[in-house]
Amino acid sequence: MATRKGVHTLDSLLLALDKYYEEMVSIRRYLHANPELSFEEVNTPKYIANFHRELGLEVREGVGGRGVVAVLRGGKPGKTVALRADFDALPIQEENDIPYKSKVDGVMHACGHDGHTATLLILAKALYEMRESICGNVVFIHQFAEEVLPGGAKPMIEDGCLDGVDVIFGTHLWAPTPLGEIHVKNGAIMAAPDMFEVTIQGKGGHGAEPHNAVDAIVLGAQYVSQVQTIVSRRISPLKHAVVTVGQFEAGKAYNIIAEKATMKGTVRTFDEDVRIQIEKELESLAKSICDGANATYEFTYTRGYPPVVNHPEETALLADVAMDVPEVKEVKECVPLMVGEDFAYYLQKVPGTFFITGAKHPDWETAYPHHHPKFNFDERAMLIAAKTIGLATLKYLETFCNK
Ligand code: MN
Repeated sequence: MATRKGVHTLDSLLLALDKYYEEMVSIRRYLHANPELSFEEVNTPKYIANFHRELGLEVREGVGGRGVVAVLRGGKPGKTVALRADFDALPIQEENDIPYKSKVDGVMHACGHDGHTATLLILAKALYEMRESICGNVVFIHQFAEEVLPGGAKPMIEDGCLDGVDVIFGTHLWAPTPLGEIHVKNGAIMAAPDMFEVTIQGKGGHGAEPHNAVDAIVLGAQYVSQVQTIVSRRISPLKHAVVTVGQFEAGKAYNIIAEKATMKGTVRTFDEDVRIQIEKELESLAKSICDGANATYEFTYTRGYPPVVNHPEETALLADVAMDVPEVKEVKECVPLMVGEDFAYYLQKVPGTFFITGAKHPDWETAYPHHHPKFNFDERAMLIAAKTIGLATLKYLETFCNK
């Protein structure tokens, strides 16, 4: 349904992005070599702000803390589309042998946020060239601290980064997914990642005299095995959930009965009712085990990000335009991922969609997973991401032009 003029705009966007692809790669490599940890980003936001300012966009720094927001105003009035890229790195020592290897000891862009940032900066450059023909505005949200709770999205929203925004789009470059694939999902695409901690307090004693003690290891072991029945026996089989105990600390010596056992774990859910139920079950299990054994417990449950829940119209639009990107071979509906993302908060405020851009090099049999010391991605995925998000932006704005 695009007009001739519309088709022309879409084509010129694709051409401009091709033209700036090398620059996109060099930005990504610069960021990769100079990573900064969540909530400690100083030079990255400065670099981003300077780039937008030199282009001619309106720039606001320090948004919600360390975020950067740049606004591109089109030549004609219309709606406002927000695009988001995160820019924090991880506390990981890079093990890749590449010319642009991290220069910072123990810090690495091991989740591809360097690629997200380069994608968005070059997309801004390409869109700025055609700003006269754009109906409406594009807001570039560069978010700090995605990797560490409470995350950067929430404070940025509280500081107004979504004011006046009608829809939002975002992507994650995904190394395990082949290059050329775009994965979309209406509804929940990523889970709520929560944390729990249980400390069981028994009574220490001599290993030879268990009858005079309350063995916290035995109670902790009961807890860990009974936790396995929460998902299998208590949650509806039609719902998705994970409960994992990842840490168990107890005991000091082989012949001493441990007085205390501490267990920590993660809970992954998509539905609020399941999330609430699992929190309750985890605590009541601790209570019942301890009540029956003359022990006490402490329980804490820390909520992570909400689930990422995509909206139907924007997801359909994204899937539709992705087919028009020459490098896209396949657009698939994916199964939800059990990881978390604070993009969730934007989608609670405005409609939009978050999708997966395949970034596995065709020559790689398997890709190192995200957060691995040898993580890397096929840089051409950035071009695919920029084209897909760019087309979705123009198509959306065009639909409401002169209305
Ligand atoms: Mn990430």
